[in-house]
Order: sequence, then structure tokens, then C-alpha cells
Amino acid sequence: MEKMDSRSFLEEEFGEICLENNIRKFRSSQIFKWINQKGAHNWDEMRNIGKEDKETLSRVLFIHPLEIVREQRSQDGTRKFLFRLADGEKIETVLMDYDPLNSRDRHTICVSTQVGCPVGCSFCATGMDGFRRNLTAGEISGQVLDVMRRVQEEDPEFKVTNIVFMGMGEPFLNYDGVMKSIQILNSENGQNIGMRRMTISTSGVAPKIIQLAHDNPQVGLAVSLHSSSDEVRDSLVPMNRKYPLAVLMEACRKYTHMTNRRITFEVALSNQNASRKEAEQLVSLLKGMTVHVNLIPVNPVKGSTVKRPAKENTMMFKRVLEAGKIPVSIREEKGSDIDAACGQLRQRLECEGYESVNQS
Ligand code: SAH
Ligand code: SF4
Repeated sequence: MEKMDSRSFLEEEFGEICLENNIRKFRSSQIFKWINQKGAHNWDEMRNIGKEDKETLSRVLFIHPLEIVREQRSQDGTRKFLFRLADGEKIETVLMDYDPLNSRDRHTICVSTQVGCPVGCSFCATGMDGFRRNLTAGEISGQVLDVMRRVQEEDPEFKVTNIVFMGMGEPFLNYDGVMKSIQILNSENGQNIGMRRMTISTSGVAPKIIQLAHDNPQVGLAVSLHSSSDEVRDSLVPMNRKYPLAVLMEACRKYTHMTNRRITFEVALSNQNASRKEAEQLVSLLKGMTVHVNLIPVNPVKGSTVKRPAKENTMMFKRVLEAGKIPVSIREEKGSDIDAACGQLRQRLECEGYESVNQS
């Protein structure tokens, strides 16, 4: 029988595994804690579990910590990790000392949900490199565990407070994996991170926005809008050809109606969209909705024609939204000295033919 990933199970599922393997049921919460609270890297760490039980478990389950291929630190404290998965694929995870959606002090981890991304936005390094596969629930929650373990080597009190699903990949094209990772991270005997402290960012998979409102109304939603005209959005975010603005906005209104929650709309500003006309269209599109707009001056990516706009254009865009009474902020540029935009680190290392070296 093929072994299963110990990080991909909920506590009650450990209960079933214990039952099937003649291990007493109370062990399931102890094991779950070792795996998902302490982030154990092997069975030997589990001091309160008998040798025999551990041997039995290790015949059906594996523990595979993610391997840190490279770590970079920004001057502003942002840390970026390049992880290698069991099959050799690489993903990125970012730790920020703030919440990118409301710039308060936090310990926020930005996790990847796929290896690559099939959506292919024109300004995104991840999209440019194509799609490999979905991450498993354990590979998603594992990013949080392994970043935590690494930081705790320096600061044993370190705790993760917030999660944003804004790394590589489109979370709603890996809906089940993401939802399960949320349950694992939310578990009281795991990281115990409140649902309200987790936010999913999507390029606009409309049906899944409604499904999220139905399945888990507590989790936050950010929508990568980037433009309020179908023509421009089609070229920036190809997902728009499947779910055009009318369909997407209808799903957003339903989401707000069902959850009573404010949606964050992200607009990566570039030479393609930082115009007065776009800003005015955005005001009309969002009028009357409970929203917040996050403006992100685009991080230029190799191989893309999308360029960062002039600072005056970003400021003008903000003023037009403010005049239209739309709550807006400009995301402060953090971690730009370490290629913190999604997919950039992996892209650069692959260009350099980078292999495995641990570096901090
Ligand atoms: N696939 C999801 C989540 C991951 S991308 C989504 O698209 O929402 C997370 C955010 O980073 C998105 O808002 C995306 O548009 C933005 N992003 C990607 N590449 C960027 C770049 N080069 N500069 C600025 N923002 C970028
Ligand atoms: Fe995928 Fe998001 Fe990048 Fe678009 S911005 S290619 S949806 S990861």
C-alpha cells in the first residue's frame, strides 16, 4: 500500500487511521498536534507516543517536510522561501510582518496553492511559466509549518497570525485542496488560525466565489480585478474570457449578500490600466458595493511588456477613487528587493540554472 501524507489529514481522520491500525483513539489528537501544531519533521520528535505505535504509523504515513532551497530576506523584514516538494517541483512562500490587505502589524504567510498557474496573466511570473500541478492540502499547510519551524529557530515565541492564499497558483482551481488546508490550519490542535484571518485571492473563478460564501463564509475574499473593462481585462487576466465582468460582479454581489463581508479588489497598476478613464470606470463598477480597493504598482517581470506606471498616475488613480467614495489604499512596496512578486524568485533561479543550496 502506498504511504499517505501525514500533513493532509484532519484530526478525525487520524482517529480513523488509529482505529484501523489498532492504536488507541486518544493518540489521534497527540499525533495531530505533533504534525500540525509543532510541525514535527519525523517520528522521533513525538516523545509522548510509544515506539510501537510510531512504527505502525510510519508504515502507513510519511512525514515529508518541505526542503528550503533558498531563503531571502528583505530590508523591510519580508522573508521569502523557495521550497522543494517531494517530487522535486518548486514553490514560493512569503512571510510578511504585516497584512498586505490592511497594512497592520501581523505575521502573515502568503502560501502557494499550485505549482505554476494555468491562468496566465500577462504581468505575472508564475503564469508565464505554465502549470504543473495542484498542491495537496498538506503541501499548502506545510508551507506554514515549515516557515514557522524555520523562524522559531531564532524566535521560539514566533506565531503565525494570518494567511493569505496569494502565492503561486489560482486557489479556486484547487478548491478542495485549499479548503482542506484551511480546515487543517484552523484546527484548535493545529495552528488554530481563525477563519477570519485567512484570505483567498482569486483571478475571478465566479462559481467558486459563490461556493466559498456557501461553504465557508468566514474566510476573506480578494478579487484580482485589474480592469473594469472586458477588453483590457481579457488581455491582462485570461480568466475574464471564461467569466467576464458581468458574471464576476454578479458573483461578488451574491457573495456580499450571503456573507455580509467586504471584498477587497486588487488592481495591479501598469502602463496598461493606470488611466483616468479606467479609474472612473472602476468607480461606476463598484458604486454601492461594500468594498476596499488595493492598488499595487505592478512589479515588472522579465518577459512581460507590462510596465510600472509613473507615480503621478498611481496617485491620480487613487484620487479618482477617493472622489467616488470608494475606500482605497496603495499597497506599500515591500520585499521588492527580493523579487517578492509572485513567481519571480523561482523564475530568476531557473534562469540562473539554480540548484539546491541553503542560503539566508
Ligand atoms: N491567482 C490568484 C492569487 C495569486 S496572485 C490571483 O490572481 O488573485 C496574487 C496577486 O498578485 C494577484 O492580485 C496578482 O494579480 C498579483 N500579481 C501577480 N504578479 C504581479 C506583479 N508582477 N506585480 C504586481 N502584482 C502581481
Ligand atoms: Fe495565476 Fe494569479 Fe498569476 Fe494570474 S496573477 S497567472 S491567476 S497566479
